[in-house]
Amino acid sequence: MNLNFDSTKYKGQRKLLVEKLVKKGIDSKEVLNAINIVPRHLFMDKTLIDHSYEDKAYPIKSNQTISQPFTVAIQTQLLNIKKNEKILEIGTGSGYQTAILSVLSNNIYTIERNHDLYKNSKKLFSKLNIRVRKQIYGDGHLGYLGASPYDCIIVTAGANELPKKLLQQLSIGGRLIIPLGHKIQVMTRVERISDTNFKKKTFGEFKFVPLLRDIN
Ligand code: SAH
Repeated sequence: MNLNFDSTKYKGQRKLLVEKLVKKGIDSKEVLNAINIVPRHLFMDKTLIDHSYEDKAYPIKSNQTISQPFTVAIQTQLLNIKKNEKILEIGTGSGYQTAILSVLSNNIYTIERNHDLYKNSKKLFSKLNIRVRKQIYGDGHLGYLGASPYDCIIVTAGANELPKKLLQQLSIGGRLIIPLGHKIQVMTRVERISDTNFKKKTFGEFKFVPLLRDIN
């Protein structure tokens, strides 16, 4: 990642954010390091830049949001990513979560259904030299068969049910993290034990923008 656009002021604010996340229960060294490294202010709407290191979600273009740092941290921590595992992200959005993942793995695929967000994040990744194997403009419900199976799949929008195609694209031993529910979502991790056997565990309530059908 190219850190030329970072600044001392923001570095200081990020350190405080990391301390806050530790207090809230994030204990993965790798995840805390990634939060400490990635300049969230570069993924924010310019008018909200002063809020970059508050632990809150904020609006971005196209009526979407940049996820709350705690949510990004907990989803990433629950995936238990081993160095350079193959990861598929659904909902590129601002690209912040993608940037966090890129610190943990150089094998990332990310899908976005909104063309403006897809284009903007593509530009930003190139400017910041964030390495993504492939950025896909499409409906994340379908996953991306071309590079499957994945060790980790992360869905960053609220789904009403488990997308079957995503389960099929998990490797044996692979993990899917997905917020499930209509108005409020329950953070759910599904681990693929065998071809037909999946183990499910839940981790509390969150609020996400909805996972939508088709592209736009
Ligand atoms: N990871 C993002 C979160 C963005 S909010 C970030 O940190 O900024 C969720 C994103 O999911 C939005 O950008 C939305 O457009 C996208 N999305 C919703 N439904 C989708 C789908 N079916 N396929 C791909 N992306 C989807």
